[in-house]
Amino acid sequence: YLPVALLIGAGLALGAYRLQANRQSFKEQLRRAMRANEFQVHYQPVYGRATGRCEGVEALMRWERPGVGPVRPDVFIAAAEADGMIIELTRHLLTLIERDVLTWATPPDFHVGVNIAAEHLSSPGLVPDIQAFAAAIVARRPLVVLEITERSLISDNGQARRNIDTLRAEGLRVAIDDFGTGHCSLSYLQKFPVDYLKVDKGFVQAIGPAGEEAPVLDAIITLASRLGLAVVAEGVEARYQFDYLEARGVAFFQGYFFARPMPSAEFARWHAAGAKP
Ligand code: C2E
Ligand code: CA
Ligand code: CA
Ligand code: CA
Repeated sequence: YLPVALLIGAGLALGAYRLQANRQSFKEQLRRAMRANEFQVHYQPVYGRATGRCEGVEALMRWERPGVGPVRPDVFIAAAEADGMIIELTRHLLTLIERDVLTWATPPDFHVGVNIAAEHLSSPGLVPDIQAFAAAIVARRPLVVLEITERSLISDNGQARRNIDTLRAEGLRVAIDDFGTGHCSLSYLQKFPVDYLKVDKGFVQAIGPAGEEAPVLDAIITLASRLGLAVVAEGVEARYQFDYLEARGVAFFQGYFFARPMPSAEFARWHAAGAKP
């Protein structure tokens, strides 16, 4: 059996080596892509119910590989997280957003939402990174909103909580992203001071076209209001979804029904023209 064991051992070693080599090259690919300016940010408008207008945007990363085409953000972001590159990539993204925000004519308190990965949230580098970002765009006086997932709260060792406390004390806001798709959400909601709940589009899609009830969605909206949190509904694609949500007091809406994510220059023109679809 020895030769077989040796073969398997060698195979495993080779496999691990290949993985290592791939990891190395993916890291290098990301760094090269950052230097070559292959990353872009698209901005998706967020509508406020109280004003009936676009009150902010969510920044969404885009990677267009020359000769390959667009890479799906959930795919390359998951890979960047697995390779310990997400903090570096997010810092790069923040510099791109800074440059874009300064070109817009948005009013004070316009929301600028940024997705923050779990590793970044629980790192001591988050506060200085976000402070530098907020300082760079202070001329526009925006309201910076950090979008974090339930998962990043569950794995917290205390640092995430300290980061959130520090940044909220400086006027930044925090949203729980994809709410309802993670675990143990309820106990963590009591433990962490946050401002918004972003309800995952899966719950919005549960609304029937004839206004059929979506009981889990209803329960989330009730829970949020009891906790004093504003709800942001994601993935609103149709009028009947908007009507349903509006009737239940949802404060903010995001989705193709209002506007798709768009490049900075397009967003600036669209906003200047009155933010009409
Ligand atoms: P997310 O944070 O939940 O972002 C919302 C996603 O829903 C975006 O997908 C957006 O384009 C899409 N969306 C917006 N409206 C609609 C709609 O009406 N219908 C449907 N079906 N989809 C809609 P996108 O841009 O492909 O991003 C996917 C995910 O990748 C994001 O989900 C987020 O988890 C991650 N991501 C994107 N950019 C960043 C980033 O800069 N940093 C981090 N950490 N994650 C990011
Ligand atoms: Ca998000
Ligand atoms: Ca989301
Ligand atoms: Ca999502």
